[in-house]
Amino acid sequence: MSEITALTAAQAAAAVERGDLDPRELFEAYRERAAADDLNAYLWVADEAPAANGGPLHGVPLAVKDLFCVENVPSQAGSRILEGYRPPYTATVVRKLAEAGAPVLGKTNQDEFAMGSSNENSAYGPVLNPWDRTRVPGGSSGGSAAAVAAGSAPWAIGTDTGGSIRQPAALCGIVGLKPTYGAVSRFGMIAFASSLDQAGPLTRDVTDAALLFRHMVGQDDRDSTSVAFPEPVALPSAQRLDGIRLGVPDDLTGEGVEPGVMGRFEATLALAQELGAAITRVPIPHADYAISAYYVIAPAEASSNLARYDGVRYGLRSNGEDLLSMYTQTRHDGFGAEVKRRILIGTYALSSGYYDAYYGRAQRVRTKIADDFRAAFESVDFVVTPTSPGIAFPLGAKTDDPLAMYLNDYFTAPMPLAGIPAISIPCGLSEGLPVGFQLAGPAFSENRMLDAAHALEQALEFDGSAVRA
Ligand code: GLN
Repeated sequence: MSEITALTAAQAAAAVERGDLDPRELFEAYRERAAADDLNAYLWVADEAPAANGGPLHGVPLAVKDLFCVENVPSQAGSRILEGYRPPYTATVVRKLAEAGAPVLGKTNQDEFAMGSSNENSAYGPVLNPWDRTRVPGGSSGGSAAAVAAGSAPWAIGTDTGGSIRQPAALCGIVGLKPTYGAVSRFGMIAFASSLDQAGPLTRDVTDAALLFRHMVGQDDRDSTSVAFPEPVALPSAQRLDGIRLGVPDDLTGEGVEPGVMGRFEATLALAQELGAAITRVPIPHADYAISAYYVIAPAEASSNLARYDGVRYGLRSNGEDLLSMYTQTRHDGFGAEVKRRILIGTYALSSGYYDAYYGRAQRVRTKIADDFRAAFESVDFVVTPTSPGIAFPLGAKTDDPLAMYLNDYFTAPMPLAGIPAISIPCGLSEGLPVGFQLAGPAFSENRMLDAAHALEQALEFDGSAVRA
């Protein structure tokens, strides 16, 4: 690995600022690595560095999940139905980051419409985990996570609806932050489930996550659910956790969690205690119903969002004898199996007669989960869990069993339902593969959460440099 790509994004930005590194050289070093990527992490790579704009991120290039619209660049959300679609506009968050000096390096592979936990639902083939190429990188932001872990991008953005930033970050041994709902504009993000989707950073360390996040936040007139972040985003500096109360959910007993993952989780709790944190148990009584509620609400919203792909307005069009058969043939050819499954579930759940039994009920569960967290944060600062119940699994291991696949989201689905932020940091290895430690905090607690994650990160001394070589 070259000296240039060994730098974290913050270090690279500082080197450019000092005049020790030419931003074109920096871009080219990553462009070459991204173009040579053999993990199938990229769907498109930029030809050349745009001219430097003097922004505070100093030209550090950014890998962008395929579902972010980038003007005149293929933006397909991992779907065949958007094959060849080049949007006439750029997502707000991508535009903001480019203006801050982080130009687009490439578009990264993902599960189709962000539906998945393994990246195996991409129409463009699975992404390989750089730690073990026979295994999945996690999903749905699997390309972004693999690219950062493998060092073919200094940092990346992804989206998280039920865990799609945190779970691939965990499985690839990097940091992933899902912000508070509304902190980052969704304008130009190809929608999956609009009340849950949120963009966030995937980075080598917590400092890079804070730096990237700082330039992502903000109210946007083009997204009515976006709000101004209430304070400046600070770079984390904490080395200790004195006075911090960490809450472990009452019903987290280790059942359903791989022993190696539970072992790393408990070791990390012990480390947190040494750093001064107090560990307590806290009830999150409805968390157990999060997966059930999520897999009604997310498909319901998806079935509505995906109604726009009709062969008329975007991407693919299949032939049909008349208008209706053109619609149905296009959707038949363009959507993959998981997307069709979700459209069917969502349409069913929203149909009159079933709406109250499924959708209405799931929404009530959602409120209960948000209430649980609100109550928990009266006695603890953060709720902590393993990010994922297991380490990266072999490609193909869960593709025939959607329910087993959905269980990957056990620890990550509750937070988007509650709209609260959560971060995953690597906390060691099990069977030679990374394990993620998750902290979730109250809405807009990102600064405090990044600080706590930073203190833990310093003590954990996780080293992912071997896979970037
Ligand atoms: N794995 C979850 C799903 O398949 C979460 C995906 C996401 O967060 N986009 O829906």
